[in-house]
Amino acid sequence: MRVLVPFGRQKLVGIVVELAANSELPDEKLRPVLEVLDTTPLLDAPLLEFLRWAADYYHHPVGQVIATALPKLLREGRDPREKARGKRATAQGVTAPAAHRGSAEPLALGVAQQAALDAITAHLNSPGAFLLDGVTGSGKTEVYLRIVEAVLARGGGALVLCPEIGLTPQLVERFRARFDLPIASLHSQLTDRERMRAWHSAASGAARIVIGTRSAVFTPVPALGVIIVDEEHDASYKQQDGGFRYSARDLAVLRAQRLGIPAVLGSATPSFESLRNVALGKFTRLALPARAGAAVEPRVSLIDLRAQAVHRGIAVPLLLAMDKHLADGGQVLLYLNRRGYAPTLLCTGCGWIAPCRSCDARMTVHQRSGRLACHHCGADEPLPKRCPRCGYPVQSLGHGTERVEETLAERFPGVAIERFDRDVLRAAGSLEAAIERVKSGDARILVGTQMLTKGHHFPDVTLVGVLNADQSLFSTDFRAGERLAQTLVQVAGRAGRADRPGEVLIQSQYPDHPLLQVLLNEGYAAFAARALPEREDAQWPPFGRLALVRASSTKPEGALEFLRAAAAMATDNGSAALPRFVHLRGPGPAAMLRRAGRYHAQLLIESAHRAPLQTFLEDWLPKVEALRMPSGLRWSLDVDPLEVF
Ligand code: ADP
Ligand code: ZN
Ligand code: ZN
Repeated sequence: MRVLVPFGRQKLVGIVVELAANSELPDEKLRPVLEVLDTTPLLDAPLLEFLRWAADYYHHPVGQVIATALPKLLREGRDPREKARGKRATAQGVTAPAAHRGSAEPLALGVAQQAALDAITAHLNSPGAFLLDGVTGSGKTEVYLRIVEAVLARGGGALVLCPEIGLTPQLVERFRARFDLPIASLHSQLTDRERMRAWHSAASGAARIVIGTRSAVFTPVPALGVIIVDEEHDASYKQQDGGFRYSARDLAVLRAQRLGIPAVLGSATPSFESLRNVALGKFTRLALPARAGAAVEPRVSLIDLRAQAVHRGIAVPLLLAMDKHLADGGQVLLYLNRRGYAPTLLCTGCGWIAPCRSCDARMTVHQRSGRLACHHCGADEPLPKRCPRCGYPVQSLGHGTERVEETLAERFPGVAIERFDRDVLRAAGSLEAAIERVKSGDARILVGTQMLTKGHHFPDVTLVGVLNADQSLFSTDFRAGERLAQTLVQVAGRAGRADRPGEVLIQSQYPDHPLLQVLLNEGYAAFAARALPEREDAQWPPFGRLALVRASSTKPEGALEFLRAAAAMATDNGSAALPRFVHLRGPGPAAMLRRAGRYHAQLLIESAHRAPLQTFLEDWLPKVEALRMPSGLRWSLDVDPLEVF
């Protein structure tokens, strides 16, 4: 329960996590609680225990972990039962049952869907993790709906996690159409009050279905009977910044295990972590090898950018394929992982390239808004027409989504284009509106970033074009290949999801690259089967374990010096050896040394096993915390980091 306590001159909200009979402090030093704010516990004992476990595992203060689990207004001491005011509040956060349940009747399951459902429902009262490994469009969502139906029939509640707000409206819609029950949806676009209300409807049991993004993994759900993680490979399950860097996918599996209920992880492109867990017998793999209903898998081919005429970033064969699919009444989706107009502003007179003043990075051109923006630190400034150094006119180099949209508008006059990226879909509700224009058929060409690759079900998209597959082919990050393969399969999966067959064209300068060849000819599973032994040889995850300490400083050498001192503590200033199985790599400068005006460095801690890494961190972190912190220095720990370069 929450209590109001005196804290210096302030009154703050605290959470009682334990009662102690005695205190080591004398009575006169103790101050009484001013007020108990709740009549019943906000978090039940298993959930509190789970949060404490997470605090231990990620070596993060338990108070901040609990704060992550609570809506902001509750942390501020507000009453969770507070009634929402205004119209919007009823539309967001908690959705009432649909008035008509029209086309939402359960579908007759395919053989593989039925087998997967049976395997999971046979274990509803026991801990177990299932990997629902189903190609895009194989009907994973239909299986989720049936699992939830079975859980509800037993009086339980269900928690469904999805990667991003982009997926939430459609997923919520499908659940709403199927179940005649209130559903709580928790995502980042809710107002504080909507969030508290949705949280309360989940916690009180009023909404027995809870659908949400990352932090929803902490939502209290009475009689929780299953946790489903859709698109489990998605990087957005990992909190990558701020203080508490957790993996909602990993925590979902753990929470389910502690409660003795199943966790169901679904993906067409499972993470290597999950594939490894299947190989170890920790997860049960359930396969949906074919598309549901009449849909067939799309035909995928490569366009060799070196051998084809290219019109402003789009190869002629792709343009011709677009003509054909549009003429046949299909929609076309183009994916490009780069927002803005162009990634570089160049002076052809003197070679000047617009730099960010605070980062080792270039500024991105945003033509329509007339700005230059840094995508690393958020800095922005007016777009110059002439070179600030020599006065010669400047030129935009390369292509972002904004420029591709402009090119398409010229090449396909009168054809409605819908752009999907963070620049155009900033406002609340704008993504839903864009999705609606695609579904209604008003939009014919879709161009966008990562946002477009995720989970959407656009039945009339028959052609998918990937404008640049090459950006991560030669990355130093050990996960880059896995990410690229996942993105390509996911974006390809948007094509031909209904009765019309789909076609996918991928542009590349390196069509012979083994990753592309294996992926296209043999599929994701074969790609993973080849890439996993390489990970094992290098002892990278999912074989070895990692923790990463990142530090930054306002002084060029500050972060590196601090990490050197921290590394020295690991071996008691060199006098003792590191524990068995634990190795330090670095410290060294970060891949982008200067970012947002600060100098970044990192220290990687590797271990063959989880336990020695945890023991090491337990012992070492207090020593690092005790180090003298130079002014302007910040550091953080990331256990199981996703990105290490
Ligand atoms: P996934 O989540 O695996 O990408 P979806 O659940 O979105 O796939 O299903 C893709 C399409 O196939 C949807 O239109 C869905 O209604 C349809 N579908 C799913 N299961 C069946 C089935 N058993 N019979 C016919 N159509 C199905
Ligand atoms: Zn110049
Ligand atoms: Zn910058």
